[in-house]
Amino acid sequence: MTTGSKTRSVAIVGAGPVGSLMAVYFANRGWNVHVYETRPDMRLPENKAKIQNRSINLALSVRGLTALKGTGLALDELVMKSGLPMRGRMLHIGSEGQLVSQDYGVHSECINSVDRAKLNEDLISAAEELNNVQFSFDVALKRADLDKGTLELENKTTKETIKAHADLIVGCDGAYSAVRNSLMRYVRLDFEQGYIPHGYCELSIPAKIGANGEAEFAMDPEHLHIWPRHKFMMIALPNPDKSFTVTLFMPFANFEMIHNKDDLLKFFEEYFTDAIQLMGKDLLIKEYFKNPKGSLVMVRANPYHYKDRCIILGDAAHSMVPFYGQGMNCGFEDVRILDSLLSEFNVKSTRESDSDRSLEQALDAYTARRAKDLKAICELALYNYTEMRHSVTSPVYLMRKTVESWLHLLMPTKVIPLYTMVSFSNRPYSEAYARHHSQGFWLGVTGAAVGLGIAAGLVLAGWRQRRQLREMSDLLKAAFLTAANSVQKLIQ
Ligand code: FAD
Repeated sequence: MTTGSKTRSVAIVGAGPVGSLMAVYFANRGWNVHVYETRPDMRLPENKAKIQNRSINLALSVRGLTALKGTGLALDELVMKSGLPMRGRMLHIGSEGQLVSQDYGVHSECINSVDRAKLNEDLISAAEELNNVQFSFDVALKRADLDKGTLELENKTTKETIKAHADLIVGCDGAYSAVRNSLMRYVRLDFEQGYIPHGYCELSIPAKIGANGEAEFAMDPEHLHIWPRHKFMMIALPNPDKSFTVTLFMPFANFEMIHNKDDLLKFFEEYFTDAIQLMGKDLLIKEYFKNPKGSLVMVRANPYHYKDRCIILGDAAHSMVPFYGQGMNCGFEDVRILDSLLSEFNVKSTRESDSDRSLEQALDAYTARRAKDLKAICELALYNYTEMRHSVTSPVYLMRKTVESWLHLLMPTKVIPLYTMVSFSNRPYSEAYARHHSQGFWLGVTGAAVGLGIAAGLVLAGWRQRRQLREMSDLLKAAFLTAANSVQKLIQ
């Protein structure tokens, strides 16, 4: 098909966070953008109750902020106006909930709790303000003919079929993507979908009324609170209205064992005693039985594109479990990287001739360069569930974290903790993953060398003065504990 020298058009399917941000980026490049969204416009008051979001709030970190900033519209600042920085995890240990704070970074780096609906609304509004972007709400993509560039959509209210056309179709339509279903008919798409046995239920901790009669946070708002219970966990993120959104993650088998309010209270009394007081029994019972129990789906696909006709981004390409707080951040990074490749391959907003292959080259490069990073973050997200619900309380984990943070302070470019690389940098995920493993090896070697040194010292001392051996070992033990203590203090 010849496009002549007319302005390129893109149909973005899905006005979630990723689709809305993608619309801004394409509009900035001068393309004609049309976004199709199956839900009604979430900004209209009459639709708010109808929209079921997957979580109330989410954690936004450096990758997401970088992509928002890259629009040149200060969207990072707009979103952060109501974002709440969280500088670490607050562990609620044991059923009584003794508090232990673990900072995320050694330089007080923060992830940010943001309201999902507000973020999405802000992005839709920012895109709509640009004069080359149009939104159609309440229309669902049914199928697409990628060679012809045609889309068949259904108006959800009237059930009418709508036909549309675009030079490029971008699927930002989430984990159950209709664009991906169409893409599968055109390329040999490797595709995997799976569920973990765990589901989630959202609850809340309301603001408390302080001595001056004003609303106050019931817990420290500068932390992401975690109740790690090994086989399951509960987390809480702060909201601007001083409440917390709480998410209980546990196997569906456990949810199914809670039939009535007595079962629920017994379960909470056994595992989350401190949370009952913070939530209030009545609210806990009401929300637990009213709120849905969501499932956690993982999707992997490859390739992500077809010629210069179609590409999938965000959850449509790589839905991951939410335990690294990276799903949306990674989707935003997809947008930034695609945009940078459009620049790298000099893709113009008009296609001058049939021999112009720049767009296809950019999309080829996207699949080739992005695949290893997306695979890495999906694996890391799964790994982090074990870390959050279990490892955070293990002495081996704490020792590694302490040593790693200490080495990071001493050699900031040589040793970098995994969490820092993933959440506080734009370093490719696969590089972060590989580096973490090689650092693990060197941390192990360092630990072993120190251990061997101590052992050799003891043997030598014992050889010389056997009777002083016991004193020497006590001395070394005390020295080690003092050093570990000072490091902990230094880091905190
Ligand atoms: P979606 O948000 O799923 O948006 C897809 C859009 O496409 C929707 O608006 C949908 O209505 C529309 N659509 C679907 N089908 C069609 C169709 N056929 N036609 C037209 N429109 C269609 N990520 C983080 O970065 N940090 C976090 O802290 C975090 N916490 C999470 C907590 C939970 C409990 C869960 C489940 C996820 C969490 N995530 C988090 C992941 C994050 O929610 C997703 O990665 C993110 O929403 C992906 O955005 P998206 O735009 O690709 O897809």
